Amino acid sequence: MATLRRTIATGAAALAGAAALSGAPVAPVAGPVAPSAPALAAPTAQAGHAAYTEGSLDPRIQAALEQRLAEAKREAAREAATGAKKPVAAATVIYYDDSQAPSFDSLIDQSAAIWNARVANVKLVEKDGAGGALKYYEGNDTRGSYYYGRGQGDGYIFMDYAQADVYAPLRIVAHETGHALGLPDRYTQPCSKLMSGGGPGPSCTNPYPDSVEASEVDTLWR
Ligand SMILES: [Zn+2]
Repeated sequence: MATLRRTIATGAAALAGAAALSGAPVAPVAGPVAPSAPALAAPTAQAGHAAYTEGSLDPRIQAALEQRLAEAKREAAREAATGAKKPVAAATVIYYDDSQAPSFDSLIDQSAAIWNARVANVKLVEKDGAGGALKYYEGNDTRGSYYYGRGQGDGYIFMDYAQADVYAPLRIVAHETGHALGLPDRYTQPCSKLMSGGGPGPSCTNPYPDSVEASEVDTLWR
């Protein structure tokens, strides 16, 4: 499996990883297997990297995600108290493109199904190519896997081969997708929490958000 993934790795994917190291989105790469550039043309104030393990955490996106979730919870509580809450007419659809992460394709689709089964206000739908707002990439990066974006169904998820050989890859995919849905890292929480990520160690394989995490996503997308 590991060997297969490495042979699938392309120069373009490695380039994407190298560029990600510098913290900047990569420019389009020429070549037969070149992926398109990550979705965000330029970092915004809120965008940043949220990683699977604590050593790679970017405190800025962590703070932005924590703040946005806290605000959403306060607003939901206010709506509940005043009866001002309007029903959610339909789930917000996030189109995702996993065409640049071929060795994780089925895991990415499983992760989407896991989230879709547990949240009501947002739905992940595969749409490879130009229509995909959330992109998945694969390659090698010393920081491991991460999400880059604002946590609003935007940006991209990078899957690192070496980390996916040590930690459960489906849990990594679902965790990073949790960031794309707006959840921050909580590395000190137990394995039963998806957003504890690599905190509980490689033996933790749970790919499911718990009911609190799912409820937080619904609060963010209500
Ligand atoms: Zn994380």
